[in-house]
Amino acid sequence: MASIPTATVSRLVSYLRILSQLDEAEVTKTSSEHLAAEAHVSAFQVRKDLAYFGKFGTRGTGYTVQSLRDELKQILGLTRPWNVAIVGMGRLGEALAVYPNLARYDFRLASAFDVDPAKVGREIGGIRVRHVDDIPTAVGDLEIEIALLTVPTDAAQAAADALAAAGVAGILNFAPTVIDAPPGAHVEPVDFLAGLKRLSFYIQRSKTKEATT
Ligand code: NAD
Repeated sequence: MASIPTATVSRLVSYLRILSQLDEAEVTKTSSEHLAAEAHVSAFQVRKDLAYFGKFGTRGTGYTVQSLRDELKQILGLTRPWNVAIVGMGRLGEALAVYPNLARYDFRLASAFDVDPAKVGREIGGIRVRHVDDIPTAVGDLEIEIALLTVPTDAAQAAADALAAAGVAGILNFAPTVIDAPPGAHVEPVDFLAGLKRLSFYIQRSKTKEATT
């Protein structure tokens, strides 16, 4: 199987969102040009991204919204629920635990872990917080495959290693540090502060340009 560029996977997620919105609006047909315009890419890019996975749509008539949406769900592994755990039930962990859209997209909060005795045993978002020492048994018992890692930076690698050793296959790492993907696990970083810093770079550059012209 050809290796799929990360940017393609990100765009597939955007195409799926656009197709779901079209379906909600009861639109039945679409085209690579329309998907491209909505996703802010070229129609060539849309066709190239989809071509990694086979042939979709018909030349001249475009795509059937529901079938392309279903194909993308299949490709992205979104045709079944995923059991998710949150590790680190501080400010961010708690906010994620009560975020309603997790369940809407079939990411089911199955457990939460912390080390703080004041948090262990508490119920947050309908879930009882367990001690991280329970990770090895709870992950298997609750069939947890994905973890949201919201621990302090210095605890991130060890927590990721413990999760992967217990059988977690995907870790969404919110801690602002690069962690080595433990064997058998895929790690995806999320960092809104990095986004702010990129914005600051672009704004500063455009302001400097304005000042010198
Ligand atoms: P917080 O201090 O409120 O919460 C951290 C929680 O982790 C606490 O409940 C603490 O008891 C727990 N913890 C500590 N060590 C642990 C371990 N080994 N195992 C399990 N739990 C452990 O912090 P916060 O504001 O919620 O931030 C959490 C993390 O997310 C930090 O690394 C922060 O930098 C990061 N963060 C990322 C983003 C982003 O966009 N990616 C945004 C905000 C915060």
